[in-house]
Amino acid sequence: MKIPKRFRTYCPSCKKHSEHVAEKVKKGKASSLTHIERQKKRQTGIGNSGKFSKVPGGDKPTKRVWLKYKCTVCNKSHQRPCFRAKKFEFSE
Ligand SMILES: [Zn+2]
Repeated sequence: MKIPKRFRTYCPSCKKHSEHVAEKVKKGKASSLTHIERQKKRQTGIGNSGKFSKVPGGDKPTKRVWLKYKCTVCNKSHQRPCFRAKKFEFSE
């Protein structure tokens, strides 16, 4: 999936349309105390290691993409409900 890096959209702080720059939100460090991490720890070496099961340790085919939209007029950024995509890049 490709989206343009700069485009005009609604800014909640200006309360009107203005040019925005899209930026990918970086993923934070995963906590070792999450439910999935504890489930992974419990698994033994025998049998299905979880690679092909739905959870845990298995990877989903599409990843959620988080985007930040920065307004070029007031320099404030906001987020929108994100989407899932296999591949993601910015087009010029
Ligand atoms: Zn603005």
